Parts: sequence; structure tokens; C-alpha cells
Amino acid sequence: MAFDLLTAYRNKAKSLDDKDALASFKSQFVANDVIYLDGNSLGKLPLATISLMQESIEKNWGDRLIRSWNENWIDLPNRIAGKIAKLIGAREDEVLVSDSTSINLYKLAFAALQYKSNKNEILTDSFNFPSDLYILNGLIKNHFHQHHLKVINSKDGISIDIKDLEDGINENTAFICLSHVQYKSAYQYDMHRVNDLASKKNALVLWDLSHAVGAVPIKLNEWNADLAVGCTYKYLNGGPGASAFLYVKKELQEKLNNPIQAWFAHEKPFDFDGNFIPSNSIQKFATSTPAILSLAPIEIGVDMILKAGLENIRNKGLSQSNFLIEMIRDFLEVLGFSILSPIFENQRGSHISIQHPEAWRINQAMINPIKNTTVIIPDFRPPNTIRLGIAPLYTSYSDLFHGIERIYTIMQEKEYLHFSREAKGVV
Ligand SMILES: *Cc1c(COP(=O)(O)O)cnc(C)c1O
Repeated sequence: MAFDLLTAYRNKAKSLDDKDALASFKSQFVANDVIYLDGNSLGKLPLATISLMQESIEKNWGDRLIRSWNENWIDLPNRIAGKIAKLIGAREDEVLVSDSTSINLYKLAFAALQYKSNKNEILTDSFNFPSDLYILNGLIKNHFHQHHLKVINSKDGISIDIKDLEDGINENTAFICLSHVQYKSAYQYDMHRVNDLASKKNALVLWDLSHAVGAVPIKLNEWNADLAVGCTYKYLNGGPGASAFLYVKKELQEKLNNPIQAWFAHEKPFDFDGNFIPSNSIQKFATSTPAILSLAPIEIGVDMILKAGLENIRNKGLSQSNFLIEMIRDFLEVLGFSILSPIFENQRGSHISIQHPEAWRINQAMINPIKNTTVIIPDFRPPNTIRLGIAPLYTSYSDLFHGIERIYTIMQEKEYLHFSREAKGVV
């Protein structure tokens, strides 16, 4: 019975791949012999990025040296920011590409607290990315001693009840910091609704878009968003540690100040003036010399997403996550797995998390198979979650089929028993 059902799913995956209008994008990434289900942590390498990097290093840096600033590099951050603006539904003068997500979050959180100085509460949820929570706690510990962090908990471990969030917002809320798509369960907030709830109480909202950008449509202007930060090395395929971005709504730009008064936030950095005069554009939130080698590849990733179309990417992603959910229900639930992602499509980002007490060892058995079979790379989040990431530009239905088939085999044949319970390294 399981065998017949497996065959049926294999055929279904194949026929969905044959009909997939985005299928051709897969060949624009470096091919390797693994099935990669971790595009939500580190996106794959686009083929075009290899030659771009070669040119950036050999020609622009090696040959042209400092002349490349004017010839090539000086406009690059703005050009990329303009393209990211299209992905997140913002104006191009509201987006800056710089620093890392964590640093950008620090800058905007600090600025928001300073601006809302008559309020002393920060609201977040227990789902927020740990780095974001550390930063908020650190701001309170080091600078804003009178403030406190209020954390909304999840009732089901998957989603946040919007009513709980609404009840948590009050006149004293300075700002709310949330992930648009949550890194563990893939729960997606109704951003428009949260922004409206916050603005009724005169609170700002700072969104972390890291797990959303490039995977789900985002309309910051239309949804009246105040502030956002996001990462470019996940669904945007910008490469490990690629520069991040931040967004500040136009009306807020003159009201908020960058706590790091560094030269790239200066009105005229190359005047080398002794006094700090901040830029009056989004540039005021910059810090340092743009990290050109970490910026250049972002453009290739963003161009691919713009070409494929975010609506198409989202539609394929939902169809693929539904396919995964069906297979998990048919094959894995009886083996003790449970789904840790929202079942409602509009609450779901682009990965499916499953839980199992042996998740760590199962994950190891997928990545380092003891038999001669395809390596499959998902990722693991402690204590017992495996995330199956869907990056519709290069994930096929057959990849997903093989992922679940492999977990099923690992359980049937108890392959996970060959691995140690001890977790180490970058997971
Ligand atoms: C990946 C990710 C980050 C990344 O932070 P870095 O500063 O680049 O290390 C931040 N927030 C969320 C929600 C993420 O998923």
C-alpha cells in the first residue's frame, strides 16, 4: 500500500514539474548532486554570480583598483536598493542596502525608542529570531534602563493569536518588533492588520523580513509599514553573509536618527569635515564603506526573482508546501512526526517544519547517508525540528518527493540509529 502510494506521489511530482512555468530557473543555479532543502538559510549559487565575482575581483579590484569606485561601485548599493524596493513594495528612496540584518535592527530599534521617548514598552513575540530578542534586551540593558520587553507567547507553538497581540498593544508601546515570517514554524503575520493595530495606539512596527523577502509578496507602502530590515542571503541568493537592507518610511526619515554616527551617514562623507551633519535621505542610516564583494551578487539574485515574478513564486511555493503537507500526512505522521507549520495558506511562509524526538539524528542521516543514496540537505532547529525549505526558483516537486521518501526510508530502516545524539557546528 505504502509502495503504491509512493509511486503515485512520484508520478504526481513528475507531472507537476513538467507543467511548472518556473522550472527553467533551476538550470541557472550551480548544479550539484545533492537535493537542497535549505534555501531558507543560505540560498544557492546562481551561475551568473561566478563570472560576476571573477570580474569584480580580477578586473574591478585587481586592475582598476580605486578607480572602480567611480567607474562601478559607487552606484551599486543604490541600484540594488532600488530593486529590493520593488520586491518589498517600497519607494526606492526608502531602502538602504548596508551592514547586516542584526546591525540594521539595532539601528532602527534604537532610533524608534529615542523617537518614542515618552513610552517605555517594546512588544515582541516568543517566536522572534533569537538575535532580534538579544538585541532588544541589550538595548534595555545598556541604554534604555526604564524600558521593558513584553513578549507574546504562542498557544500552539505554530502561530500567534492576533487577539493576544492586539491585547498586548497599549498607549505605552513604543514599538513592536516581529518577524513577518517566523523562522521556525514559518508562521506569517497579516502585516497590514498588525500595522493598523499599532498605529491606533501610536506605536511603530519594526518588521524583520529575513524569512519572507523573495518568497512571499510584501507591500510595505500599501500596508502602511513604518520600519523593516531583512537579509539577502536566504531567498535572495546573495551569498553567505551578503549585505542586508533596511527600510524607513519616507515620513519617518527626518524624525529618526541613526545611533551610529559614522561617515557614510554624513551629508558629505568625502568632505572629511570635523562635524557630523547627517544626510537627509535614507543614507542617514548607513554606517560604512559598502561591502562591494558582498553586495554585487545580490543584484543577480534579485533580478532573477523580479524576472520570475513574486506572485508566481508564491503560487508555486504554496502548491509545493501543500504537496509536502499531503505527503507528510500520508507517510510521516504514523511514524511519530507532527507538522509544526500553519495549515492555512495565508499564514504560511515558504518552509514546512516537522517535529520528531529523533529529529537531530534523522537530519544527520539525510545529510550523511550510510548507504549509497542522494544526499539531502534540510536543516535542523533545536530541540526537535527539521525544516524543509522551499525555494521555488530551484526546488522541484521531485526534490520534495525525494525528501519525504528519504525520511520514510530512514525511519523504516532505522538508519538514524547510526548517528550520535550530540549536535555540533553550524546546523
Ligand atoms: C537569517 C536571519 C537574520 C540574520 O541575521 P544576521 O545579522 O545576518 O546574522 C536575522 N533575522 C532573521 C529573522 C533571520 O532569519
